[in-house]
Amino acid sequence: SLELRDLTLAYGPIDVLRGVSLKIAPGTTTCIIGPSGSGKSTLLRGINRLHEPKSGDVFLADRSVLRDKPDALRLRIGMVFQHFNLFPDHSALENVALAPWKVKGLPKAQAFAIARQRLEEVGLGPRADQHPRDLSGGQQQRVAIARALAMDPEVMLFDEATSALDPELVKGVLTLMADLCRRGMTMVVVTHEMGFARKVADQVVFMDEGEIVEAGSPSAIFDAPQSPRLQRFLSEVL
Ligand code: ATP
Ligand code: MG
Repeated sequence: SLELRDLTLAYGPIDVLRGVSLKIAPGTTTCIIGPSGSGKSTLLRGINRLHEPKSGDVFLADRSVLRDKPDALRLRIGMVFQHFNLFPDHSALENVALAPWKVKGLPKAQAFAIARQRLEEVGLGPRADQHPRDLSGGQQQRVAIARALAMDPEVMLFDEATSALDPELVKGVLTLMADLCRRGMTMVVVTHEMGFARKVADQVVFMDEGEIVEAGSPSAIFDAPQSPRLQRFLSEVL
C-alpha cells in the first residue's frame, strides 16, 4: 500500500502541495485529475522523491520512504512520463533490459529475458530489435511502460502518459494501462482522459491549488460532484 500523510512540497517560498493525505490500497488504480498547475505532477514527484517534501511523509508498504535513499526507492516505483525519454541509440529490447541489468545488477542474460517477456506483454515482441525512431509514438510509450515494468515495481506512476500522442495512438496505451490495472498493479495515474478515469479507476482524486478538494469512486466524482470547484472543472472538460 501507498499512503501520503499531510504531505507539503514547496518550490522556494511557495507551497505547491499543501498538506495532502491519500491512501492507495494494493492492487488499486487511483486517477488524479485537476486543472493545469494544481499540483498533480508535484504529487507524483513527492511520491518517488524527485522532489523532497517540506513536511509530511510517504509510506510504502507501511514504511516511511523518507528513511530510504531516493535511488533505492526508484527501484520500487516505476514512473512513466508524457515524453518517454527512450535511449535513441538502443533497440527497444536494450531500452527495457538496461535498468534491470545495469541498475538492479541482474545477470545480463536474465535482464534480457525479462525485457523480452515485458515487450511481449505490451504487444511489441516482434519489434524488440527496432530503434525508437522506427516506432510510433504509441509504441514508444509502450516500450517506456515495459521498461518501468521490467524493474518489477511495487507501484507504477503515470504522468499524462498519453498527452503527447496522436489521438489515434492514445487508445492502445490506455488499453495497456487498463490491462495492468486488471492484473493487479498498484497505479497512480495523472490523466486528462476522463473516460479512462471513470472506467478504470477504483478511486478518483480531484486536485486544485495544491490540495485534494474531493476524492471518491468514479461515480461519486463524475455523477455527484459536491464542491463547486469540481463541478466547474467537470463542466469545462466533459
Ligand atoms: P499540468 O496539468 O499543467 O501538468 P500540474 O497539476 O501537474 O499541471 P504541477 O506541475 O504539479 O501542476 O505544478 C504545480 C505548481 O507548481 C504550479 O503552480 C507550477 O507553476 C509550480 N511549479 C512546478 N514546477 C516548478 C518548479 N520547478 N519551480 C517552481 N515552481 C514550479
Ligand atoms: Mg503535470
